[in-house]
Amino acid sequence: MADENAPPTEEEILAKLSQLKLELNPEIPYHLQNLFPVLTGWFINGTIKNKATLIRALEPRLEEMLKPGEEVLYISKGVRNSLAAAFFMGALWANLLNQTAFILTNARLLMIRTNTTGTPQNNFWVIYYSEIQKFKGSWTGGMELRLKDGRSMSFSGFPKTDRKLMSECFETALHDYREKGFEPTTTQSMETLCAYCYETVPKEEFDCEACGATYWKPSQLALRSLIFPSWGDFLMGHTMLACFELLGYVAGLLFLVIPTILTMWSGRQGQVTAGVIVLAMYFFFAHVVDAIVTYSVARKGLHPRTGSTS
Ligand SMILES: [Zn+2]
Repeated sequence: MADENAPPTEEEILAKLSQLKLELNPEIPYHLQNLFPVLTGWFINGTIKNKATLIRALEPRLEEMLKPGEEVLYISKGVRNSLAAAFFMGALWANLLNQTAFILTNARLLMIRTNTTGTPQNNFWVIYYSEIQKFKGSWTGGMELRLKDGRSMSFSGFPKTDRKLMSECFETALHDYREKGFEPTTTQSMETLCAYCYETVPKEEFDCEACGATYWKPSQLALRSLIFPSWGDFLMGHTMLACFELLGYVAGLLFLVIPTILTMWSGRQGQVTAGVIVLAMYFFFAHVVDAIVTYSVARKGLHPRTGSTS
């Protein structure tokens, strides 16, 4: 009788994926036993399906991003925690904007911003193992990442099954890197990658030298949000959030600004003063706060302005 607890072989995993109609791209070298360590048990098909669906959503980009000889050790998706975003936009929006796929390879950690189903959006990052000081998973599904240049990030919402496994894969990768001593030069611990050619776009630069693509500077986006709320979010491709912002702004104009102006028009001195305060607060929150939030969101990644020219 076969050992029930023995890890599945690659053939068994491939057979299971094909049975579930979730075949992966055979061109990409996956460490399948890390990704699908268990094939039997209650609700296991759901777990396998979630993982395979995420991987398949990432595959078109992975195929382009991976270098020759680069192997995929582990993949998972969590949410990058951002207090500022949650405070101003509400936890729900911050959650939607900060979905991040982690791809651990034998050379580096790739991060891709995705939508909730794992489809990549325009933000790509790389962190070489030599730049990581601490990578720690917690039992609540959180993940803490501390980098050599002092930056630290925290993530939440990783699936339960990934918490332990991802940390283990990471430890192995870190150990292997230390043995090989692969330490590329970087301009910052977490480098941003061009959304077209995946070459590094150095810190504080907004043009890709490799392919000619250009990116918005956070200040350019913030200025546009200051002039017209939601503009910056539209340019960053956060379309749904931007539409809600625009609706809220128009509703404010119709139901707060116009009635206030009419009251002031016909009113006495006291009403005029109150009206000025109401209008000042409305425009402060709608324009100034939106510009600040746009700036803080924009700084996290690169936002395409014009595409690649090569
Ligand atoms: Zn490029």
